[in-house]
Amino acid sequence: MPDLNALTDAAELFAAVEPKRAMVITAHPDDCEFMCGGTVAVLTRGGWEVDIMVATSGNKGTKDPQVSAQWLAGTREDEQREAARRLGAREPIFLGMHDGGVQDDDELRETIVHQMRRRRPELVITWDGFRPGFNHRDHRNVGRATYDAIFPAADDHLYHPEHKDEGLQPHRPQVLLLGGQAGTGTPDFTVDIRPVLRRKVRAVLAHTSQMRGRTEAQLLALWKQRAAEVGETDPKRVFAEAYRRVIFAR
Ligand SMILES: [Zn+2]
Repeated sequence: MPDLNALTDAAELFAAVEPKRAMVITAHPDDCEFMCGGTVAVLTRGGWEVDIMVATSGNKGTKDPQVSAQWLAGTREDEQREAARRLGAREPIFLGMHDGGVQDDDELRETIVHQMRRRRPELVITWDGFRPGFNHRDHRNVGRATYDAIFPAADDHLYHPEHKDEGLQPHRPQVLLLGGQAGTGTPDFTVDIRPVLRRKVRAVLAHTSQMRGRTEAQLLALWKQRAAEVGETDPKRVFAEAYRRVIFAR
């Protein structure tokens, strides 16, 4: 087993990790595609199985008074399914929490531990919930609960011993990538997504209800503009996804 701490290049790290199972844990439909859609496409192209787990169904966040929360949730779940298909990921797992109501509590941690013991990912991607001033509270809470689920809970059989009754065993992923680092973050790991850029764009555009008619060209221009605002013009970094990387010892 190679020392994963020594592998700072994404291609080398992804090649070294076995078995090739990953899980993305996010708060809302479309989080995965914006934060790490390119990384997911890179992984699935490399033969990885990728699960996308979404805490809420995005049942808020509309200014249209005609739209009900239930309708919006159903629509956004369908959009997430289509986005996952476009990225080559598996059918998404929806936890059905309310948008804006995600708590970093025992219940969420237990759910994440359960899913980790069930799907046994070696690589997990989630929001960086520890970054000061980080945007949406659902993002922060999902990020923190995921970190705490990996360590110490998921690999310790004394946490949630009832999982054993379902035949589930303790599990610890080897790599955690904390996302949302573009611009003001402090990334120490980047994935060059230029080879899969169109796939990411198509996956983002699957979230039709959130896109307000935006086109592929407009999305690319927007990303370039955001990168330029923080002084980034090198295409290799403009079209990169950036993370803080945590390696967990076994
Ligand atoms: Zn979100």
